[in-house]
Amino acid sequence: MSEQEAYGRQDNRVLLQDTMQSRGDTEDPAAWLRETDIVSYDFPHAANLIAESFREWRGQSGPELARAWDWCVLNFEGKYINLTEDAGTADQWKGQLEAAAAASLQFMKPYAIHEQAAGHPMSFLIIPVFTRSQGEIFALLGCAMPREQYEQGGLYIAEAMSLHYQACFYRRFEHMFVSDLAGVHLHAERESSRRSLLFQIVQRMHDNIDVDAVLTEVIDSISAMYPGARLELFMSQDHRSANPLVKPLPLRWGNDDVCAKAFKDGCVSLYAGREDSHSVEIGLPLGGKQGVYGVFHMVMDKPAFPEVDLRFLSMVADTAGTAFENAKLYERSNQLIRELRMSNELTQRLNQSLRLGDIFQFAFEELLEMFDADYCCILHMNEDKGGLEAIACNYHPLQGEILEIGEGLGGKVYTTGEALILSDYKNADGSYSRLMDATGSNSVIATPLNVGGEVRGAIMLTSLEPHFFSYDSYRLLQAMAGHIGLAVGNARLHAEVRRLANRDSLTGLYARHYLDEVIKDKQITEFCGSLIVVDIDQFKMVNDTYGHQRGDKILRQVSEIVKSSIRQGDIAARWGGEELAVYLPQLGVQQAVFVAERIRKRVMSETEPRVTVSCGIAEWSWTDDKVSVESLFYRADMALYEAKNNGRNQVVLDTKLAEISTKNP
Ligand code: GH3
Ligand code: MG
Ligand code: MG
Repeated sequence: MSEQEAYGRQDNRVLLQDTMQSRGDTEDPAAWLRETDIVSYDFPHAANLIAESFREWRGQSGPELARAWDWCVLNFEGKYINLTEDAGTADQWKGQLEAAAAASLQFMKPYAIHEQAAGHPMSFLIIPVFTRSQGEIFALLGCAMPREQYEQGGLYIAEAMSLHYQACFYRRFEHMFVSDLAGVHLHAERESSRRSLLFQIVQRMHDNIDVDAVLTEVIDSISAMYPGARLELFMSQDHRSANPLVKPLPLRWGNDDVCAKAFKDGCVSLYAGREDSHSVEIGLPLGGKQGVYGVFHMVMDKPAFPEVDLRFLSMVADTAGTAFENAKLYERSNQLIRELRMSNELTQRLNQSLRLGDIFQFAFEELLEMFDADYCCILHMNEDKGGLEAIACNYHPLQGEILEIGEGLGGKVYTTGEALILSDYKNADGSYSRLMDATGSNSVIATPLNVGGEVRGAIMLTSLEPHFFSYDSYRLLQAMAGHIGLAVGNARLHAEVRRLANRDSLTGLYARHYLDEVIKDKQITEFCGSLIVVDIDQFKMVNDTYGHQRGDKILRQVSEIVKSSIRQGDIAARWGGEELAVYLPQLGVQQAVFVAERIRKRVMSETEPRVTVSCGIAEWSWTDDKVSVESLFYRADMALYEAKNNGRNQVVLDTKLAEISTKNP
């Protein structure tokens, strides 16, 4: 034995002695029971106990002689107590015995009446029975015996027997107390074990911050307490649980259904003894502070269910409701944090670029990851192509395709402007989707893409699994679409601003600085190009004659003619005042002359009031000594100057190439 163990044992021994002493083991803990007695207040209620004790006393053996006597018992007032099953023993002497009892009560001691009865000399004896502490008469024993036996000491035998009766009475009396106490004790024990069970359940439930774990915990706890019970839990929300006992709330319930009642009233409801079976059915609401979330349904093969158990069960259900609510709130706040984080990430990425293509690509990538979806398709309105373009889609055959407006689920979302959630596509009536069919998807969430208050497209997310998307994710997608819409709007605005910055507002042609930049770039990457400078003849006079506004109009007419006389890729700009310029990339002067001539002729015939233009043309080639925008313009300007000098309404080439100049016809 180690030293420590030895100490331990010694300590225990000392402790045991202490407790024994402190308890005062010399005292009898049951002494109070012996001191307990009935008092005169109890007498009117003691008849039963008196009768039962009498019966028991009679059943026990006594002196042979006395067995043959007719015995009876009377109450504290000397009234005969009828014992139906013993009827006949002393009933015939009731009169004599009651008379003796009256006397006995008066003298407070045994009393006998002797008389001739049924042809024999008889003694009718009454012996009072006293309470053990106060010595009050609470009952009287009566007996009829032959006179002869009375005189031979029958009185003493009867007196001794009455003491036995008293003992019998008090044994019963004490037994009654003890069994009452035992009952109370048992009840307290049960109650305490329930309490500790409840405490454990409460603790375990509140340890769980996972909604499903709370539900499983409460189901397990109740199953453990009532092993024979059939249990299921109906939940009212769209609550997905791994536990097979958790089911959705039935849509239709009978009026007398315990679950319907429990759910409606928010308190325990019980239905005992169905006609067809001896079972109890219990509906326990799972409720928190904000409402009832579901109902436990319990069926037990018992004819009845104790009230205390019901109270206990309802406490368990209340605890479960609160724990569920807490877990739900925790889950919800986590979800919100997650959504905030994701929305933050998405907007951050979206803000990295102002290019529309980038934005759709980022959004597409982020959404796929955020929702853990199998497929994502972003549709964007393309007016030029007259339909919804699948601008980002990971089902590749669809990428870049143009869908007719109103076609499929995406088209429906676009035209109605309303979000959509489908959990079981295969069994949904009247829904058609190319993406869903081609990918074999079963669930989908989709939302319109709003840009500046106008639906410009749709976003679809699909999963192969049915019932994959929750209502929360449906809501989240709508929020994300808002961010994407904003980013798209910004990109479009930015593009528009950029476009406007490069344009001249009166004519819609490019601005001079833009043309300068383009030519500069082209002179680095290309081999040659031509520049036509177009100047309206005598424009000052036009202004003077028709006014400035009319002059503007003519300037616009000429600009339109220039625009529609060149190819895509050629750049027309307003060079300044009423001077326009056209740059023709990769073209030599011969072709430039054709273009300039076309412009000159069209202006002459199409303007109203009629004006004419003069054009100067210059070209550059990579073989030139000095290639620059300035020299190109300078030379074109020189040619224009010559055209003016030569009488206007003509096209003149840069002097270096004077031989190809054309003259006014
Ligand atoms: P020419 O070119 O044939 O030698 O004669 P012109 O009268 O056109 O002479 P110039 O090119 O020197 O004058 C340009 C005139 O064009 C001056 C101005 O009144 C007019 N002008 C320039 N810009 C605008 C414009 O934006 N709107 C209008 N209405 N007139 C303009
Ligand atoms: Mg002019
Ligand atoms: Mg001019």
